Amino acid sequence: MSSLLDRFGGASDDQRPEALTAVRLGQKPTKVVLFTDQVEDVLLHYVNDPEVRGYLVCPGGECPLCRIGETPEHFSLLPAYNLAYRTIEALHISDNDAPTSLAIGLLPHLGPEHLRREFLAISRREFGQYLVEAAPLQGDVSLVEAAIERFEASRAKGLELASAYRHMSAEELARVPSIREQLRAILPPEDQP
Ligand SMILES: [Zn+2]
Repeated sequence: MSSLLDRFGGASDDQRPEALTAVRLGQKPTKVVLFTDQVEDVLLHYVNDPEVRGYLVCPGGECPLCRIGETPEHFSLLPAYNLAYRTIEALHISDNDAPTSLAIGLLPHLGPEHLRREFLAISRREFGQYLVEAAPLQGDVSLVEAAIERFEASRAKGLELASAYRHMSAEELARVPSIREQLRAILPPEDQP
């Protein structure tokens, strides 16, 4: 048995976890506050097709992108409070562990004495190179704390950081023209979607 009220009543909005957005890093610094070192793992494909352009979550199984030889990239997703938008976003961190990588740049700022107490100004230099500068968080931090609390509550109800990235099923991906054409050329007729 389940409650018809829960299913169709006013509580439904509350039960559907909202989607997050991804932190956008560019040449201008993006200011974020970190509050945890706990990450979520995700496999992302970068798709160039103008219809889809951007990162999307590998659906696994019969993923057409994997089948045409595009290996998904592993990322660690870290929640971060974006000072400009006053909201929690997903920061995607590649496995690159070069000294100038994002992971290594963030590392000194993940201890309890840093979390929630400083903001990081992160900028992207050349490909795969990041500059991470920290400064103390001064002034009123109640907005930060409130956003973190709301995020933790949503996460307890099932919100995933991967919701910041596009999700398409294997069937939907197989219908994207450029992917479909590659599948047609590569797979034997009996394996065609
Ligand atoms: Zn895939």
